[in-house]
Amino acid sequence: GTAQIGVTGLAVMGRNLARNFARNGFTVALHNRTASKTHALVDEFGEEGVFVPADSAEEFVAALERPRRLVIMVKAGDATDAVIQEFAPLLEEGDVIIDGGNAHFADTRRREKELRERGIHFVGVGISGGEEGALHGPSIMPGGSKESYESLGPLLERIAAKAPDDTPTVAHIGPDGAGHFVKMVHNGIEYADMQLIAEAYHLLRAVAGYSPEKIAETFRTWNTGRLDSYLIEITAEVLAHRDAATGKPFVDVVVDQAEQKGTGRWTVQIALDLGVPVSGIAEAVFARSLSGHAALRDVSQTLPGPTATALSEDEAARFADRVEQALYASKIVSYTQGFHQIQAGSEEYGWNIDLGSVAAIWRAGCIIRAAFLDRIRGAYDAQRDLPSLLADKQFAEEIGAAQDDWREVIATAVRQGVPTPGFAAALSYYDALRAERLPAALTQGQRDFFGAHTYRRTDREGSFHTLWGGDRSEVSG
Ligand code: NDP
Repeated sequence: GTAQIGVTGLAVMGRNLARNFARNGFTVALHNRTASKTHALVDEFGEEGVFVPADSAEEFVAALERPRRLVIMVKAGDATDAVIQEFAPLLEEGDVIIDGGNAHFADTRRREKELRERGIHFVGVGISGGEEGALHGPSIMPGGSKESYESLGPLLERIAAKAPDDTPTVAHIGPDGAGHFVKMVHNGIEYADMQLIAEAYHLLRAVAGYSPEKIAETFRTWNTGRLDSYLIEITAEVLAHRDAATGKPFVDVVVDQAEQKGTGRWTVQIALDLGVPVSGIAEAVFARSLSGHAALRDVSQTLPGPTATALSEDEAARFADRVEQALYASKIVSYTQGFHQIQAGSEEYGWNIDLGSVAAIWRAGCIIRAAFLDRIRGAYDAQRDLPSLLADKQFAEEIGAAQDDWREVIATAVRQGVPTPGFAAALSYYDALRAERLPAALTQGQRDFFGAHTYRRTDREGSFHTLWGGDRSEVSG
């Protein structure tokens, strides 16, 4: 065969990825379960490059140069296993199967192990950027063996997005499921970012009394500063949009129930397993889930509480500045939590992930792309084993400078009855890290009381138990 790469699964993602490879000069073999889609792609976009359409798995494999590199872009889950079962018997030692779907990293670990035993490289790749990204340059997070990256890396570097310093937004993340794990956390952070932006919007609307257009304008201004990011940019566009049918702001005609496909939930589930406090991401997932509970929200007319009072124009402008500070401070905390999770996953699974390079490849192509990520990259470049982003001097200074406004915004939200679970969880996390003593000592006392779970002392080594039901003397635990 002559094709340097093959793509099977030609729905929106696979189709755009295949075109991206072809536009970058690679010969691309094409395959889809329903063959008509393969031919439709060639009919429509054949002129963009060199495609080799294949109707059967055998034809597809035969079209590929060796070692073969074939990308699976099908519905994540059982379909991925089905496609692997179909192709693996046709492959030879050294060939590379790339799964570009949103697989759970545990599935990727299982698949990688099974295929490794058959001499086939299996590379789970996180791809972010949606269909536009797939076509024009996504952020790419490949896992799998080092060896597989040697064969695959040069191709991915050609189709990836380019960071502002012109480097491609792809890097080998680490063995087996590391790429899909990092993509999962990326999506968790994306949930948190979106929730924080939504809270900022809610406050500007309810407390500052701004119209959606005015908020769009405010976000556009923020987007020229340290919050410069794709999500702020598109938020302004959504808010400025008017519904053609009614003439109302678009945001006012959309049902206020947020849906999810599951990667945010995975992030939180895995964080619980790893014991990593990702409270901001968790609140974002819960906020979506709460919004969707129509029956639960039926009490909206009957539960008493304050209604927000309008501010004067000057007060509103001042409040908007404070909200910017609160958003930025909360964002620092979200990323602190997300990177902590990556660090914990890396330790648990022995991936040796370079956190600075993760920040670097998120600078372009993906949904959370932002100027901010260059700062994170810088922090990890300065100290590779930085224990937490909040241990970085500059981030600590910035969050310190923002904190008065951050606290004021949350206090206002509480007084006026505007829910801000993301802002508040972030501030609580920050204050917990600041605390010299936490009430966890009391928790330990309670656990020892009812369950004899023992505790450690501040002044002596060892574990201890108090005889709560007896004379309350202390014994070694
Ligand atoms: P879908 O997830 O909608 O999957 C459709 C594709 O899967 C079709 O090509 C379909 O073939 C194929 N397929 C489904 N079941 C089987 C099966 N049992 N055997 C063989 N082929 C099967 O496509 P998307 O393009 O939206 O997404 C592809 C992957 O990329 C998913 O894992 C998704 O999570 C991930 N992803 C998607 C993003 C997005 O923005 N959409 C962003 C990043 C990742 P047929 O035409 O024959 O039905």
